[in-house]
Amino acid sequence: MTNDLRFPIVAWMCIYLIVTMAKFPRMFLNGAIDSEATPISLALGFIALVTLLMYTVFMKFNIFSITRYENYLRGHDNDSLTGVKSLAYLLTNAPGLLKGRKVKVFYTSISNFHDYNLIHGYQAGTKILQETADMLTAAFPNTLLIRYGGTHFIGINQDFDARRFDMIARKLASFSTGEALSFKVGIAQMPSKSSIDDAHRTTELLNTIDRAAGAVPPFKKKETVGIYDGELAKAEEVRVHVLNTIDEATKADWLKTYYQPVIDIQSGKLHECEALSRWIDPQYGFLTPDKFIPVLEENRTIYKVDLHNLERYGKDTQELRKKGKDIFPISFNISRTDLETIDVFSAIEQIVNDYQLDRSKLHVEITESALNDNSDAMIRAVNKFHELGYEVWMDDFGSGYSSLNVLKDYHFDVIKIDMIFLRNFDERSQEIIKSVCEMAKGLGIQTVCEGVETQAEFDFLKETGCDYAQGFLFSPPIPLKEVYSKLGQRM
Ligand code: C2E
Ligand code: CA
Ligand code: CA
Repeated sequence: MTNDLRFPIVAWMCIYLIVTMAKFPRMFLNGAIDSEATPISLALGFIALVTLLMYTVFMKFNIFSITRYENYLRGHDNDSLTGVKSLAYLLTNAPGLLKGRKVKVFYTSISNFHDYNLIHGYQAGTKILQETADMLTAAFPNTLLIRYGGTHFIGINQDFDARRFDMIARKLASFSTGEALSFKVGIAQMPSKSSIDDAHRTTELLNTIDRAAGAVPPFKKKETVGIYDGELAKAEEVRVHVLNTIDEATKADWLKTYYQPVIDIQSGKLHECEALSRWIDPQYGFLTPDKFIPVLEENRTIYKVDLHNLERYGKDTQELRKKGKDIFPISFNISRTDLETIDVFSAIEQIVNDYQLDRSKLHVEITESALNDNSDAMIRAVNKFHELGYEVWMDDFGSGYSSLNVLKDYHFDVIKIDMIFLRNFDERSQEIIKSVCEMAKGLGIQTVCEGVETQAEFDFLKETGCDYAQGFLFSPPIPLKEVYSKLGQRM
């Protein structure tokens, strides 16, 4: 029976007994309704009255369920696997624990844990977690330790001796066999605003945990500990700003298109320019692509930048046309997610029609890494661009793992050899560039070498038979006006 039904039934029974002045007990005790009230019947009537009152109070304040809930929570204060505190405990006690204290939070992460479980079994994985909890408890004695999610631990205290994390990392690494169990930690300081109330203190703690998680160094880096400092805070602020204002940035033209010349190696003349985006923000100033491209790629809204970039070229073309001039061809970057999130072909065609652009002057750049997954869809996309009349260029050739496969499966017009080969301009790199250029020639594909910074590199490329060169030797990416002044031509 539910609480809802129990309450009216018990209440009505008690009311009946009281209202009939304990008639029912009298009848029950003496066998007659009209018999005299006895002390026992009065006592029973009195107990009924008290029961009713208590029941009303309990139901009104939900005392039964509150007690049950508290018991439940108490039973779950500790994580049953490792013995440290649970998240439930932290959330219930956070306001009290944090009141008036200036605390730091650490957040731990272990890489390849899933693989470890698969290879050594669940029990072995559990043991690793227990060992980690024990080591953390021993290394940070007065710290509130919480297990968070599957494999993470959170610690809360005034401060931590970061060197102790290295010891734990070394110990955990010694457990790994094929799969590297790498242990990393992020640390963040919780802002100490004494004015904030309990609810906000809990929210602030959760934000601090998030920041600590964000400060965990990437697994490929060698440091064990990352601190959420001013620099990370600023990067985070810019990241959120970019996500919040991308539409405004395109509408208000905070996003600019810069052009970087690509030179025809044999003639030394401009072949085309790569159109690269820059974000000139009213609040944060000049932002290079690394501040906004990866954020928007992750958020799958990078198409807004890519289309705006092409549209800016359309506007520049219009401007020049008005002056009776023609513009250079461009290559423009599209991201893999553009193909998944929008009908990128129609969107590009729309801009081409709006600004009367010449398709043969538009080269679509797709990075090699974008071709690794979903290759059928990518092959179709490359073919579709060709059908529509655009050249398709492969960007960053040699930076991925499947460059030769990519050459086999896709029909590119041009490949851009990644600048890593020139950054390490030794004999081996030169041999690789030479072979790639020869192979491309055999396949009827032209080559661009990116990142050309010195005359020696340029001379080598000329000798090798590479078709085009792009790099700081000629120019960094610059606004349209500067392209013409740099090339010695009047606009
Ligand atoms: P990317 O497509 O490989 O562009 C070439 C990058 O190399 C540019 O960086 C350019 O400034 C830089 N670079 C050119 N020559 C040299 C050189 O000689 N030495 C060195 N060290 N660097 C050189 P930028 O403009 O910062 O762009 C970085 C990346 O951001 C681009 O790499 C591209 O992947 C992405 N990106 C830029 N604009 C857009 C865009 O509109 N859409 C998309 N999807 N990605 C973009
Ligand atoms: Ca590119
Ligand atoms: Ca590139």
